[in-house]
Amino acid sequence: MATTLPSPPKIGMVSLGCPKNLVDSERILTKLRSDGYAMSPDYAGADVVLVNTCGFLDSAKEESLEAIGEAIAENGRVIVTGCMGKEAEMIRAKFPGILAVTGAHQYEEVVGAVHTAAPMPPSAFLNLVPESGLKLTPRHYSYLKISEGCNHRCAFCIIPSLRGDLVSRRPDAILREAEKLIEAGTRELLVISQDTSAYGVDIRHQPRMWHGQEVRAHMTDLSRELGKLGAWVRLHYVYPYPHVDQVIPLMAEGLILPYLDIPFQHASRNVLKLMKRPANETKVLERIKNWRTIAPDIAIRSTFVVGFPGETEDDFAYLMDWLEEAQLDRVGAFRFEPVEGAAANDLPNPVPEEIKEERYARLMELTARISADKLQAKVGRTLDVIIDAVDDEGGATGRSKADAPEIDGEVFLRDAGHLSVGDIVAVAIEDADEHDLYGVPTV
Ligand code: SF4
Repeated sequence: MATTLPSPPKIGMVSLGCPKNLVDSERILTKLRSDGYAMSPDYAGADVVLVNTCGFLDSAKEESLEAIGEAIAENGRVIVTGCMGKEAEMIRAKFPGILAVTGAHQYEEVVGAVHTAAPMPPSAFLNLVPESGLKLTPRHYSYLKISEGCNHRCAFCIIPSLRGDLVSRRPDAILREAEKLIEAGTRELLVISQDTSAYGVDIRHQPRMWHGQEVRAHMTDLSRELGKLGAWVRLHYVYPYPHVDQVIPLMAEGLILPYLDIPFQHASRNVLKLMKRPANETKVLERIKNWRTIAPDIAIRSTFVVGFPGETEDDFAYLMDWLEEAQLDRVGAFRFEPVEGAAANDLPNPVPEEIKEERYARLMELTARISADKLQAKVGRTLDVIIDAVDDEGGATGRSKADAPEIDGEVFLRDAGHLSVGDIVAVAIEDADEHDLYGVPTV
C-alpha cells in the first residue's frame, strides 16, 4: 500500500552582498533542507521568501531595500535577515507586512522564523525527530540549559578549564526551546547552567525580541518569561549574587517555583577565601530570612564541601552554627577529594581522612534533623504534587514544588491509581520522615 507524504513548504532565497553573506545563506538553506523544507527557484512557488541583505554601503542598502520591496510585491510572505537586520525598525516601518527581521549570523533565529511562518506538516515518516528534540528525561520534565562554561575559578573545580568561560544562549532561543518542550508535554522546566545567576553577563544582557517585546538576557527577565509559559520553572545552580533577590518576588507571584538551588559550599570566611568564593555568609543569612518573608514556602537546597584543605575545627563549627541558623530545606555534602588539575590540590594543611569522615557524619546528622523537622511541619497541609510514577497497586510517586527530580525527596501517595504520570494534583500530606512525604490525593 502506498503512503502519500505531505508536500513540504517551499523556501525562496534572495542572497545579496559579499561571499560571507553567501555562506550564511548556504548555512540557512542547509539547515532548512535538513529540517525537511523544499526550495523554490522563483517567487511564485515559494511559501516564504528569505532576503539575506547587505548593508555595507549606502548603495548596498538601497539594493537590499529594493530586493525586499520586490519580494513583497511578487510573493508577500517575506523574512529579512543579514546585515540590514540592524535596521529592523526602519525595515518594518517601510514594509509593515514583513514576517520577521533577524540580524547577521543569527541562524537559530531565522530558521525559527521560517518554522513559525511556514510550519512543516506533521508526518511520522518525515519528522523522525520531534520539534522539541530528543530527550533522555521523562516527557513531563525537561532540563533547559541556558549557558555553558563559567567565569569563576573555584579552587576545587576544573569546569572552567574543561568548558571555558561563560557563554550564554540568546533569551529568545531559550524561550523558543521551552515553548516547544511544553507543547511536547513538559510540565516542569529545570533551568540549568554552571552559574545561572551569571546568565547574560558575557553578552551584556543584550535584549532580544520575543513575542513582540524585548527580553533581556538576564536571569530575572528570563525567569519571568519562562514563568508565563505555564509550566513549573525550577532554578538550579544559582550563585548568590545580590540580584538573586529580584527573582524571589516572582516566586511569591507564583510565576516560578519557590525553590532555589544555591551551592554555598561553605560558610566560614577562611574556607570560602581558600576556595576562592565570595565570603558574604552573614549577609546571606539575612537575605535568606528576607527571602522567607517574601516567599514563605521557599525551599532552599545547597551543597557543602567538608574537609577542604585548611578547614579548622573552628571553621567547621562555624559552618554547623550557620546551618542551624539558615535552616536549609535540602542539603547535600561532599568530603573534599582532590580532582586532577584543580588548584586546591596544592593547598597546605590537608584534613586527615578520619576527621573528614567525622565532620561529614556530624553535618549529615544535623541536616537530616533539620530536614525531618521541616517536613514534619508540612503534615496536615495540602500541597501540589507532580506525578512521576504510578504503580499497579494503587500507589503513585511524585514531588512537591520543594523537590527537584533525582536530588531531593519524594511524595509517596496512596489511593492514587487514577492518576497519570505528569499530572499535577493537590495532595493532603499525612506523614513525613527525614527526606520524604506521604499523602493522599484530594481528588
Ligand atoms: S564550582 Fe561552579 S562556580 Fe565555581 S568554578 Fe566550578 S562551575 Fe564555576
